[in-house]
Amino acid sequence: MQKQSATSNTPYTRVLLKLSGEQLSGKFESGIDAEFGAWLAAEVKKVVDNGTQVVIMVGGGNYARGAQLAGHGIRRVTADQIGMLATMMNAMALTDIFESCGIRTRCLTQIFAEQVAEPFVHRLANNHLKKGRVVIVGGGSGRPYMTTDTAALVLALELDCQVVLKATKVDGVYDRDPVKFKDARHIKAISFQDAVANDNIKVMDKAALGMAMEHNLPIIIFNGTQADNILRATEGTGGTTIS
Ligand code: UDP
Repeated sequence: MQKQSATSNTPYTRVLLKLSGEQLSGKFESGIDAEFGAWLAAEVKKVVDNGTQVVIMVGGGNYARGAQLAGHGIRRVTADQIGMLATMMNAMALTDIFESCGIRTRCLTQIFAEQVAEPFVHRLANNHLKKGRVVIVGGGSGRPYMTTDTAALVLALELDCQVVLKATKVDGVYDRDPVKFKDARHIKAISFQDAVANDNIKVMDKAALGMAMEHNLPIIIFNGTQADNILRATEGTGGTTIS
């Protein structure tokens, strides 16, 4: 685990932020909402200015998801590769947006795409982070049959992040779907065991949850569309903590 740096004002010195493609599409049905991206950059800047190192894993569902694309002649492996390319598009766009907002950022790729991004090398990623740069990772894990949720867990473990922050549209886990049920109850903290066993909890892949449980890496599910929520999550407040 990363030691707490002298400059960090939060319990976490290094965090992994998982952003879905759907979030990046903002007000649009698909593609990237650059305006939302700029808002996000300002939110992440608050975290960086607070002394916390940030790794971002982006999804690709705003362009393609392997499981939906496969079929009618498209093999699952190819469909997943297309999904991984989709995450690359998000990572590249977000890197530009972050840089244009004055945040030192590096885009690293888990697939062979050296013309567009630096290859993901553990030592390189670590160095960027230590220098206070935000690291945005595209390409998921580089392997098919996985989602970026699971890839995010692996990346967080690989880079010694102390927590995974999963941004969603709701402020955490509920006992029932809060969109469908007005009396759904917000859960502030839940164990890994309960989160894995509860079929109503769909905010995070079960494979990702299982991996987090095995390695005792906490996950915070929070609403990523409201101001200050990423910062609050790094301070250990708000959302639902799965640990
Ligand atoms: N993907 C993959 N391997 C990975 C990560 C992602 O094959 O390690 C593919 C998979 O097809 C997935 C797509 O990339 O559906 C986009 O990622 P994801 O569905 O996780 O995006 P999100 O739902 O977070 O936007």
